[in-house]
Amino acid sequence: MMMSDKPVVWLRDVDSSDLGLVGGKGASLGEMMKIGLPVPEAFAVTATAFREFIDRTGIADELFRVLDVNVDDGVELKKAEDAAKKLILSAEMPPRIKDAIIDAYDAMCEEEGGEEVFVAVRSSATAEDLPDASFAGQQDTFLNIRGKDAVLEAVKKCWASLYNSRAIFYRVKHGFEHRKVNISVVVQKMVNSKKAGVMFTRDPSTGAMRTIIEASWGLGEAVVSGSVSPDSYIVDRESKEIISTHVGMKEIMHIRDPETGETVVVPVPDDMKEKRVLTDDEIMKLVELGEKVEEHYGVPQDTEWGIEEDGRIYMLQSRPITTIKEVKETSTSEEGVGEDIILVGLGASPGVASGRVKIIRSIDELPKVEEGDIMVTRMTTPDMVPAMKRAVAIVTDEGGLTCHAAIVSRELSTPAVVGTKRATEVLKDGMIVTVDGEKGKIYRGSLIREEAHEEVHFQAVSWKPITATEIKVNISIPEAAEKAAATGADGVGLLRIEHMILGLNKHPSLYIAEGKEEEYINELVKGIKRVADAFYPRPVWVRTLDAPTDEFRAMKGGEHEPIEHNPMLGWRGIRRDLTDTEHFKLELRAFKKLFELGYRNIGIMLPMVQHPSELKRAKQLMEEVGIDLETTTIGIMIETPAAAIIIEDFIDEGIDFVSFGTNDLTQYTLAIDRNNENVAALYNERHPAVMKLIEYVIRVCRERGVMTSVCGQAGSKPEIVKKLVEFGISSISANIDAVEAIRNTVAREEQKLLVELVRSSKKGLNRD
Ligand code: PEP
Ligand code: MG
Repeated sequence: MMMSDKPVVWLRDVDSSDLGLVGGKGASLGEMMKIGLPVPEAFAVTATAFREFIDRTGIADELFRVLDVNVDDGVELKKAEDAAKKLILSAEMPPRIKDAIIDAYDAMCEEEGGEEVFVAVRSSATAEDLPDASFAGQQDTFLNIRGKDAVLEAVKKCWASLYNSRAIFYRVKHGFEHRKVNISVVVQKMVNSKKAGVMFTRDPSTGAMRTIIEASWGLGEAVVSGSVSPDSYIVDRESKEIISTHVGMKEIMHIRDPETGETVVVPVPDDMKEKRVLTDDEIMKLVELGEKVEEHYGVPQDTEWGIEEDGRIYMLQSRPITTIKEVKETSTSEEGVGEDIILVGLGASPGVASGRVKIIRSIDELPKVEEGDIMVTRMTTPDMVPAMKRAVAIVTDEGGLTCHAAIVSRELSTPAVVGTKRATEVLKDGMIVTVDGEKGKIYRGSLIREEAHEEVHFQAVSWKPITATEIKVNISIPEAAEKAAATGADGVGLLRIEHMILGLNKHPSLYIAEGKEEEYINELVKGIKRVADAFYPRPVWVRTLDAPTDEFRAMKGGEHEPIEHNPMLGWRGIRRDLTDTEHFKLELRAFKKLFELGYRNIGIMLPMVQHPSELKRAKQLMEEVGIDLETTTIGIMIETPAAAIIIEDFIDEGIDFVSFGTNDLTQYTLAIDRNNENVAALYNERHPAVMKLIEYVIRVCRERGVMTSVCGQAGSKPEIVKKLVEFGISSISANIDAVEAIRNTVAREEQKLLVELVRSSKKGLNRD
């Protein structure tokens, strides 16, 4: 819906597609209202209202200037917080926003017979390009606010809390630009809870089918903040029996002071300290509400609730449980057990996840994908990446192990199954399924997602074997840079830039037509720089554009892309860049800018070359934009058999390195379209012809002093990597999730070669 320029929206009118506008909290409350849960009336002052506030009052530039500090210096950080807050608190709220807030608050009071109501004013930060980014708990909440002026004041304080030291620090350390993080403020009628607490719809540590409720007296803050030992109740979801009741010692409670209306903390009267808080009836009503929320979201929920004096129950918040660690097999009541395989495809990104199916047939359906869903589509495209980040698993009809969905899922550590042929037909919206991204299977029913997956895989490596062969990593989305660097890789053997370009909201030719070349160059610089920074001074080989025309066509302004029968053999890689030199020069200017900024760790890699004349022309164009060839590391990808066979001629033309693009080298050597699942079974990187080409190129390059590397899928496969080490390759570039295993494989193989060498030389000595 078109609400984006309204400063205030009612949450009953929003849903999860409005995440960017009202933040996670607001969107989730809107969803809960939609399914008829008892949620107190609420409106949101939108994220765009905040932007409007800082823009109209003219404080934006100054605001972002004061935030530009060294966040590791506590004193500077505090100064930045104070200065930013002062700017916000002393600026006058534009009348349009002020009036909208007052009108909404008045309407709320109207419903209560005109009496000024108490409201809770809560912050909900959201990132422009990643609306689902979580900044939970970093901004402030104000309870029991009453009266227009107090509400306006609290909204401003929430805005100011976007610049709490902790929040500034977090954003800088996690690579979020302050300029792109906005804040929405939720103003919700206050529930004057007599009792309140939290409820997990599953056991939060094991995922077992039990509802766990914690309760205490007064407002929920006491339980949420952990300042009391609450009662806890456990209910078996199958039998609906209360299987455990534990009455805690509740020393304090947060209540609304009847005199001042403010929230105060008071001791719990003695006779209530050890008194049971919830009746059986209340427990069962809560369980029912919990089931309703879980069913709606399709994943276990962590909720907050409150019960007023008159017994009315309210649901105050709900979010997915994020602490379940083990994979446990549990059947969902309606949909049976997880052993029922309903679809198979190629396991493209490991991990197991359960959730609700969301079929995406076109880009405008993307908002359907909510946190915890399984995204199912024909094939993913770069503009689907934000939704892919929300999904717990991805399933596609098409594609092989090197398609977009496979590459991006691996970098996001999201389980994925590709090439199922029929996922969008067989799976239905709303179905609960489990995706096993390793085995390539999709089961009916729910197994709990392995939440610990990401942490386990991407903890910084503290000890690693030293290998003579360098171990590098592939990156396709700049957001994966820090994760990739934490693997301890010796550099980036392939940074694909087409995902960055295809992820822009318009075709490069539109930037050119609009005279916005600088803007385009800056986008490239920004993405590449993030990776170069994360790895500095380790080398980062950036590949020039290589996307087939069919992927460009989907972009705004991409209608003029030629329609090709087989885009894989078409206008891609260097052949595109050498005919569309206007665009190629923009790429090259981005490199030049990065070199000028001091990023000498960047090397340029040219894809899809088949003749040295292409390399020669590319170098001429580099010189034309002012790149100094003497000081620039330049390499080519070996993806065509032609390039492999005449490698000598390329070396004569001048290269510092080659990298085997085995995905393409295999498809072109064997004549197997790598994206065509009908011939996927014949696709084999270990085919003797492919291995022979690789062995030959490595031998020639070694003789001529040229570095060799591999960045295709083969570099993530231990069996092939062993061979490459034997051939004498200089480095291996693996997918993020494979770096550690490949490093171990290489270490072992090198040891083996050394041992063999020593043994055979000893044998020789003995014979003498
Ligand atoms: C390859 O062909 O092996 C390669 C790494 O490039 P891409 O997968 O992007 O074509
Ligand atoms: Mg390739």
